[in-house]
Amino acid sequence: METLNIIPYPNYIKRLGADISSDELNVAGSTITITDEIVNPEGYELIIENGRVQISAGGPAGAFYAKETLKQLAADGDSTLPCVEIRDEPAYPYRGFMLDSVRHMTALDDVKKMIDAAAMLKMNVLHWHLTDDQGWRIEIKSHPELVNKGAYRSGSHFGKIHSEERYGGYYTKHELRDIVDYCAKKHIEVIPEIDMPGHMVAAIAAYPEISCRGEQIAVETRQGIFPDILCAGNDKTFEIIFDVLDEVMAIFPSKYIHIGGDEAPKKRWKECPRCQRLIEDLGLNDEEELQGWFVNRVADFLRANGRQAIAWNESLNSGLLGNDILVQMWMDKKKRSVDFANQGGKIIVSPFYHYYTDYPYAMTPLNKTYKFEPVLKGIKDGCVQNVVGVETPIWTEHVRDFKQMCFMIYPRFAAVAETGWTQEYNKDVGDFNRRMALFVPLLEEIGITPANESAWNPNIFKRLAHTIRFFLGITTKDMIKGYD
Ligand SMILES: [Zn+2]
Repeated sequence: METLNIIPYPNYIKRLGADISSDELNVAGSTITITDEIVNPEGYELIIENGRVQISAGGPAGAFYAKETLKQLAADGDSTLPCVEIRDEPAYPYRGFMLDSVRHMTALDDVKKMIDAAAMLKMNVLHWHLTDDQGWRIEIKSHPELVNKGAYRSGSHFGKIHSEERYGGYYTKHELRDIVDYCAKKHIEVIPEIDMPGHMVAAIAAYPEISCRGEQIAVETRQGIFPDILCAGNDKTFEIIFDVLDEVMAIFPSKYIHIGGDEAPKKRWKECPRCQRLIEDLGLNDEEELQGWFVNRVADFLRANGRQAIAWNESLNSGLLGNDILVQMWMDKKKRSVDFANQGGKIIVSPFYHYYTDYPYAMTPLNKTYKFEPVLKGIKDGCVQNVVGVETPIWTEHVRDFKQMCFMIYPRFAAVAETGWTQEYNKDVGDFNRRMALFVPLLEEIGITPANESAWNPNIFKRLAHTIRFFLGITTKDMIKGYD
């Protein structure tokens, strides 16, 4: 079977005749039409025949994707175009990548390169992780200490990385809006994440009164999970959170706002009289249910403002989560995400072992990322549509510069992009590796240098050695102590 050199691979291709050379192309006779005959707004039809290119699309996004396909066909080495009919639409509506700008910040020009690459691959979501224990990265006018104090840490101690140098900074509203506009032109939605009630040390360092103890703490310099989280029994907490979300919504027009909800140890809540009183007043059984209540309260606030919440899968531990909260599965041994989807809830799939690109290729080879199928085991046939898509994150504790980031994310981001777009029956891991090698120059052209091909799928001996080295590097006493 002949294959075209396109990533993600189109879902229907029919050869119409011999290749034509670019000199024969009748540009004036070519057309782009938006039509409601194509139901999916991201769907398109591309016909190259008789020297003309005809594009029909279900919406502006579909027309954009048709042009991206055409660009890849035209970039194929020689100056010819194949005469083909391509009918295409994504397997999943949500196809995202996540950028952690807390542990290390990425320059906005480099963020734009990531966006360019994602758009070429027909991804449509940038999930931007903007707040965490180690820094607050989004300008908030109503509570200025969030950036004045919360955006800076006194050093960085992430595994093998040790620096006593003050580190920090933040993105202004103007800069963030510029990225939102840039993404909109490429049909990418920016979904900001304000992680709560855990991973809030930077905010607590700025406003200690929103924690259970109310004590001054410092912006965290280590990686890990830390005991100080937002106090659920304190009105001031919600006052500040809602002010923050008001400003976040004014910057980001996205349908969804990510509110985190992962890795929130319950030690402080167990000791806090205000949190305990609230558990009693609300008739809840325990602190897990209190987190469920917390997430629902914030989700209600977003809903009242016409937005919807996304939360990491730990938020399901309470068993109380509202069904309109989109759940992002990353590590879910008890398969609560599967149950949630089977009960009508919607999920995004970001499996740690397959899609976390901050881990070495030794642990997560390209083929392992590629082969993962988003419909999780246990999801019933009638609930498959509740898996709305895929997302691949890059966490940046160990990623200090853009060169290193590019090595980690590409080509693995492309593997996830293809899974999000291409139907499982059209996927082929061998052919993907072949096409990926040809796609590398297109990434290099926009300033992204992927991992060299020899690194993509290391053999078993390399995998073992690299994995052990990596874990020895990141597991420090500090990190273990941070867990609760
Ligand atoms: Zn409390």
